[in-house]
Order: sequence, then C-alpha cells, then structure tokens
Amino acid sequence: MSDTLSSPTTQAESASVTRPVRTRYAPSPTGFPHIGNYRTALFEWLAARHTGGQFVLRVEDTDRKRLVPGSIEAIMEGLRWLGLTWDEGPDVGGAYGPYLQSERKSLYREYADKLIAQGDAYTCYCSEERLEQMRAEQIARKEPPGYDRRCRYLTQEERAARESEGIIPVVRFAAPLEGQTVYSDYLRGDLTFDNRTIDDMILLKSDGLPTYNFANIVDDHLMDITHVIRGEEYISSAPRYAQVYRAFGWEEPTVIHVPLVLAPDRSKLAKRHGALPLLEYRDMGYLPEAITNFLLLLGWSYDDKTEFFTLDEMVRVFDDKRISVSPAIFDKGRLDWFNGVYIRKLSPEELTTRTLPFLRAGLPEVARERFDLDPAYVTRVLTLDQERLKTLADAPRLTAYFFIEQPEYDATLLLGKNFDAPRAAETLRTLIPTLEGLATWEPEAILATLDAYVVNQGFIRKKADGSEVPDRGPVFMLVRVGVSGRKETPGLPEMLTVLGKERTLARLRAAQEKVTALEFAPGE
Ligand code: GLU
Repeated sequence: MSDTLSSPTTQAESASVTRPVRTRYAPSPTGFPHIGNYRTALFEWLAARHTGGQFVLRVEDTDRKRLVPGSIEAIMEGLRWLGLTWDEGPDVGGAYGPYLQSERKSLYREYADKLIAQGDAYTCYCSEERLEQMRAEQIARKEPPGYDRRCRYLTQEERAARESEGIIPVVRFAAPLEGQTVYSDYLRGDLTFDNRTIDDMILLKSDGLPTYNFANIVDDHLMDITHVIRGEEYISSAPRYAQVYRAFGWEEPTVIHVPLVLAPDRSKLAKRHGALPLLEYRDMGYLPEAITNFLLLLGWSYDDKTEFFTLDEMVRVFDDKRISVSPAIFDKGRLDWFNGVYIRKLSPEELTTRTLPFLRAGLPEVARERFDLDPAYVTRVLTLDQERLKTLADAPRLTAYFFIEQPEYDATLLLGKNFDAPRAAETLRTLIPTLEGLATWEPEAILATLDAYVVNQGFIRKKADGSEVPDRGPVFMLVRVGVSGRKETPGLPEMLTVLGKERTLARLRAAQEKVTALEFAPGE
C-alpha cells in the first residue's frame, strides 16, 4: 500500500515518502458548520482512507468566548451521518490525545516557553489602548497595520519592572525581520513573502491560552499530522506558520489549500444560496451519499465526465493533485439533482427504511396508525412515488392519500373542460360497477378495462388532422382525483393496484356523492 496521497496511477512518483498519511479535521466549535464546510472534512478523510492512513478529529476550542454549546456534538453527528468516521478524536481517544485543545493548555505554554528560551518569542506588555492607538496611527500614515515590536527590544530590567507592576503579558513570535519566506504550496508552487510584511503574531494570550494559529501549529506537529487540508483563505497565514515550524526545527506538514466555495453569482456563499447547517439537510430529507458526491465535486474532479461516486469509489480514486485552484461554485440545483438521482437508486427496502421517519413525522395522525400495520404496503406506495421524490421529506405530502380513509379535496377538482358535474356523476355511476366487475385487480386488467370503458362511452377527441381518437383524459383525471384528491399522481393503473380494489371503489363512490351534490347545489 502506498503511503502517499496519490491515485494508483501516480503512486510511483511518491514512493519515497515513508510516513503514513495522517490528516485531521479541526473544527472550531463556534457554531453549526454549513454543508460546504464539510468539504474539507471529506477531502481529509479521503486523503487518509485512500492511503490507508488515519483521520483525526481535533476540536479547536480554545476561544472560550465563541464556544457555541452543542456544536461539537452537532459536528460529530454530521460527520457520522456522512460516513466520515474518524480513527482518533475526543470521543474515541487515541495515542495522541487529548483531542480537545482546551485540555492541552499546558502543552502550548511549554512550547511557547521553549521559543522564548531560544530567542524566537518574547513577552509583550503593550496594553490594548496602546495597540489601538498604534493601529490608528499606522492607518493614518497609510502603513499596513501590524505590531511595531516595541516589547521585542525590552531589556531584562524593563521586563521585570512591568511584571512587578502586575501586567500579564502575551507571548509573541519573533518573526524574521529581513529577507523572504518561501512557502511551497502543494498546488500552487513556491509562494514568496517579504518578511517585512509579516509582524510578530501572538502565540499565547494574556489568559495563558494559545491563539488559534499557535495551537494549530503545535498540535499538527505533536499529532504527527502529515497533510493539512484547509481553505484558501489560510494562504496568507502560510508564511507565518512556516516561520514557526522552522523556528522549532519541525518538519512542516504538506498543506493543501482548497479553493473557495462561492455562490453561483461568485459572491460570498450565504444561507440564501443553500449554505445551511449540514444537519438541516438531513432533516430536509437529503441523502448523505448525494451530499458527499456533491461536496466531492466542489473543487475536485476525476476527469471531465465522471459524476457519480460512492464513498468507496471516492476512496479508491481520490487524488489530491486533482484539487482545483479556481473557486468552486455551490449550485444548490445540482445538489437537488444529485439527491433525486440517489433517491431513485435506492432499493425498495432502503427507500422504505430511510423514508419511514419522514412519514412518521409528516403524515396526519390517523395515517400513522394505518401504515404501521403494513410495512409491505408502505414499500409499494413509496416505490410508486420514487421517481417524484426530490427529498425524502416530500413523501408525506405526495403519499398521504394512500394512508387515510378518504382524501379531502374540493369537488370541483373532479370536473374539467367539457366535463361538467352531470357528466362526471353519470360517468362515475357507470364506471364504478364496471371496475367492480373486474376479476383481477392488477395494472394490465385495470388499464384494459378503463380503456374499453373510454371507447364504449364514446370519449373522443379530434386530432389536428380532423380524425377522432379515444380520449382517456377526462375519465382518467376523474378517477385520479377521485381516489387521491390530487391532479398529479403516479400512473393510474399502478396506483389503483396499490390502493386496492375496495379502497378504490369506496373512494369513487364518495366522489360520486360529491359531484352529485355539486350537480344539485343551488347557484352552481
Ligand atoms: N479551526 C480551524 C477552522 O475551523 C481549522 C483550520 C485548519 O484546518 O487549520 O477553521
């Protein structure tokens, strides 16, 4: 097995890499990540699984003020739902734990002290007010804002004096003052940054907690992370990260900056474009396999034609070199399309198992009791409507009439152009016994009977050339509405078969009563 991130076709190129690939998903639990955020998790998971390496879940929760209760659990639930299982993490443990950064505080202090001792970091006593003022002046002078390094040059005595005043310092990295930092981007090649544009970033805050950047660097090293996949917005931080790694003398992980995900009009992706929390998609009846397939193609492609990938197939073919550098477009319509396709691929049993929770929640109370009695009936109903389901949550709305005694609808729905109440009533009066006389209740027999009825009763329409042909339209629509209360349903013979003869006839009798009442209603 290869240790490298590559497709089978390119493994040979990287055969010299000997370390196993370890990737991590490192969410900050500051909210409920939207669907697009999981793309990074998917890519990291794929990179690990493709190479037989490990996928680690690390929670970056050092910013206690921004912590949103419940978000860690929701993030984990989302990953599990998508099938992105992790080998190490806060819940399962592992050799590199703990996996909550809030439980690793003393480590960051230790590593900050190490940098101070070797002269690569220093304590900074500047007050918020001073920093504010400095920033204002820099802006006024049209200089790029950044720390002016005043505390970098304090003497031991000056430091001691500030300490005795009780000022609690932050720790800053002593970034190189001159020269350039060359950072070699996995997809973009060498990127060169002028060190004069990089200021001394804070590593530890005055509360002793690490900044996000520092904790991230220390942990990626201590957890032996070999490949980091993160958003392109982190490219500007890449030289800072590189400088700290180099100060420690640590090997830098391979960082893969994935392209931004934009709205179709290339604006920032927002809720209105479909950037909703992942679990909302679950609750709206999306399939996880549709979502992972959709996410895979946000900035990655296999070739220019293959569109469908199961998780297993993705694992097999994932090649991180095929990650794009141009922005990915989040097209909700495409996600919906994938969802429909994956729903149509479900076996009748799978369709039933996955849709039952939606039926249980969405059907009227009376219906819930009925279908509980007969799962085989539920399967037959759902199979009929499988083509029409855009999400599993469509099921209750589309199929409710299968599960209640009588559908509710307005009697005028039974009428049509050239098909008034007397004609509808008369049609039902003769059609009901015709159907009643059917010996076998299955699609072919029902269709043949209905067609013969149409011909016998003289339902015809004129074609453009003046010739006349039998016209199923009015009769079929009458029956369709009569049994379902809807104008759009699955194919009529199949639907009547599933409904069963008794229920069909009872509904048609009720429809007959409805149109008869219409016929004699005053003022109609
Ligand atoms: N905690 C960071 C975030 O949620 C992780 C970024 C990274 O992958 O390094 O954005």
